[in-house]
Amino acid sequence: MSESVESIRAKIAELPHCPLGFYPTPLERLNHLSEELGIELYMKREDFSGRSLFGGNKIRKLEYLMGDAMAQGAEYVFTFGATQSNHAMETVTACRQLGLKPVIYLTEVVPVIEGEIRANLLLDQILGAEIHIVKMHPGETEDDADLRGIEMARAQMASLEAAGHKCYEIPAGGANAIGSVGFADSYLELRDQMAALGLTMDYLFHATGTAGTMAGLNAAKKALGDSTKIISVNVSEKTDAYLDLAAGLANGVLERLGIEEKVLREDVCREGNFYQPGYEIPSDVATQAIRHLAQTEGILADPVYSGKAFAAVLAYAVDGRIPKGSTVVFLHTGGATALFAENEMVGDFSHPLIVEE
Ligand SMILES: *Cc1c(COP(=O)(O)O)cnc(C)c1O
Repeated sequence: MSESVESIRAKIAELPHCPLGFYPTPLERLNHLSEELGIELYMKREDFSGRSLFGGNKIRKLEYLMGDAMAQGAEYVFTFGATQSNHAMETVTACRQLGLKPVIYLTEVVPVIEGEIRANLLLDQILGAEIHIVKMHPGETEDDADLRGIEMARAQMASLEAAGHKCYEIPAGGANAIGSVGFADSYLELRDQMAALGLTMDYLFHATGTAGTMAGLNAAKKALGDSTKIISVNVSEKTDAYLDLAAGLANGVLERLGIEEKVLREDVCREGNFYQPGYEIPSDVATQAIRHLAQTEGILADPVYSGKAFAAVLAYAVDGRIPKGSTVVFLHTGGATALFAENEMVGDFSHPLIVEE
């Protein structure tokens, strides 16, 4: 039996929660691109979730994670990411808002050069987080370095706990059942906004990394029995095991809400052809998509996440994988600070300058 929006909302409302963002986030029609592509194209502005200009999708998850941390009486919050992690920056921001102490372990995917620190890592410094940079050892993969970071953080947590301090650990991306509930909530909000316009979504596109966003969206969709196609665009290389991970996380969300429905691996869809050449490495197709979105709508996407995912929307619309006349929503997950990061992450946006003497 399918759930109703009201019954899911009532279940979500029972969970520990801290308001951190500004919700509902706006939904807008992209008029120029709708006309150009022959589809009804809307954008859900999760990048406007606020606190500062640098919002993003992690705030939804953090509302539930921080709710849990506060309920447990935490003093320190530990989390993980790459050096330019949006999730880490948004976690540090939430800690400051709630009076908690942020400790972050960041894997040095892009080299950190003292004196030239930018973007999220600069914001982490301004916000005064305790920042650990985990160097990558020769021959080590990013995953190996991430695991070493987790071990070091857990050792630090153990000694803090032994001294009587309560610590709360949030996984990279806030992607567990607790955090991912935030995107079940987001799905309901978006569906209501569309319904108020008399529309239902044929397609919902978004960038996927740790799969928490994808899991929450798919959990709510399944519980409601909707037929919307959720296309989750990978931002890094993933094997098919990723589908099991996403379905498992979605089921964790459903269980947490006491909903019996199950998300199967066949229910979730990931698009793996737009992340190349790799995580935090720019691509021509994403660069073009970012420029195109900026120059038709005045909206900025980032080179690591939303630019790569938006490139998929453009490609699908142009080659007909999205039929003409379809109603399509792009969930803008934020991340614009990456435009101010190291050049090797940003890519080539060179544009003629008219130099006047
Ligand atoms: C983290 C992030 C994503 C991916 O969300 P997941 O829940 O980790 O899959 C997408 N876009 C931006 C800007 C992000 O920071």
